[in-house]
Order: sequence, then C-alpha cells, then structure tokens
Amino acid sequence: MILFCEDCGEKNDLDPAAFAGGKAVFRCSVCDYPNAYSISSYEKECPSHKLTDFLDAIQPSSGIIGAFFYHEEQGVIEQKMPQLLTRNDIDTLGSGLARSYAEGQSSCRDLTKMAVVISDKYFSVFKLSTHLYVIVIAAGPGLPDKILELISILEKEGM
Ligand SMILES: [Zn+2]
Repeated sequence: MILFCEDCGEKNDLDPAAFAGGKAVFRCSVCDYPNAYSISSYEKECPSHKLTDFLDAIQPSSGIIGAFFYHEEQGVIEQKMPQLLTRNDIDTLGSGLARSYAEGQSSCRDLTKMAVVISDKYFSVFKLSTHLYVIVIAAGPGLPDKILELISILEKEGM
C-alpha cells in the first residue's frame, strides 16, 4: 500500500501488516520523518485501488497534466501530479478548489462539475461523495472521453 510522507510528500510503499489498529506509523524512506496518522476512515471511505486504477489510466499523451483525489478531512489521498509540486502544494490547491466548488454549489444546486483556468492550465473538479473530489488538470479545455467515462463510473459507484 502506498502512503505519502506528511513532511516531504514522498511515496512510501508499505506492507499493509504495518497498519494494525488503523494507524500508519512509519519512518519516511526519503527524509526519515516519523509519520503517524490514522488511516481507518481513509480506507473505509475510499477503496484506494479504484483511485489508483483511475490515476494509472491517465497518460501524458492524452493532454492530461495530472490528477489527484482530495478529501476535505484527509487532504490529498492519491495523486499523479508533476514532481515539482510538493504534497503541501497539492493540498493547498485541493482545499481551494473544494471550497470554490462548495460555494458554487450553494448558489447553484445543480452544479455537478466545475472547471477553472489557473496559469493557462484547465482544472476540472468533480465531486464524488460528500467529502471526496477528483481534480483533473489538462493543457486545454475538455477531457478525453475515456477519462470522463472513468469519472462517471467513480461517481455512480458512490465512492
Ligand atoms: Zn519524507
């Protein structure tokens, strides 16, 4: 199972046996930071293989720059974003977009998708469940059919 270091954001591939009791306690293999955080609600709400399957389907050739799943309480839970962004950067981005989405929804209840342009990149924000969003970043407007299809599957499954 992949978990991200809370300090430097690096991926750590860990043996699930290490998470007895719903807590992830590990030293980051890159920066040595002693991580200790709860993963029980995370696992329950977000079957993480579905999320990683989705991210695996995203190829740079399709004009997609990156994508990530943002949870309002847990922060970024899975991501495939350009390396130059730290986990904190992506967290900040996620919380800003989630807040804008919520504001949009408060004035337009039928809102199902939000698209914004930041630094010439097209950000598409979809809400998958009460607290979970997927954000896809593309070089141009519109997303490939295959990506939209995968998102509609995630939405239907009521993540
Ligand atoms: Zn680290």
